[in-house]
Amino acid sequence: MATVIKNAWVETTTEYRREFERVDESGEQTGSGASFPCDPVTGEPLFAELHPNAIENYYHYLKLVAEGKALDMGAVTRRNSYRHPAVIECARCHSQVELDDAFLSTCGKCGADYDGSGQLLAPREQWGEETGETLGDIFCGGQDN
Ligand SMILES: [Zn+2]
Repeated sequence: MATVIKNAWVETTTEYRREFERVDESGEQTGSGASFPCDPVTGEPLFAELHPNAIENYYHYLKLVAEGKALDMGAVTRRNSYRHPAVIECARCHSQVELDDAFLSTCGKCGADYDGSGQLLAPREQWGEETGETLGDIFCGGQDN
């Protein structure tokens, strides 16, 4: 087993968006709309962060709300989670390897292959020896193309 430099971890971010949803003539939400980064308390868009086109779009949506063509959902809290992969030390060359794939991660320096748990795999020329598969079979999941 390779030396773990950093375990996988999940980063969660929170952002506040002023959201607008379009509605059709009968008042049904259409599933489209727009959102803008905003102050969580006032719901006021963070104009300093917005491109001029986005600011123009924000005022366009306020107009749509006034016309009954969109709903103002106010400040909506959005939480996003992002998984950072574990990092191991390559058993061969001591470079850092991110285990960013469940099945195969390759050292960028020496080409050593690891499975998702950080186990060093046999050299690729040995892959399929026991099953008669080629590397192409293995990488394509055995699908006929
Ligand atoms: Zn390596």
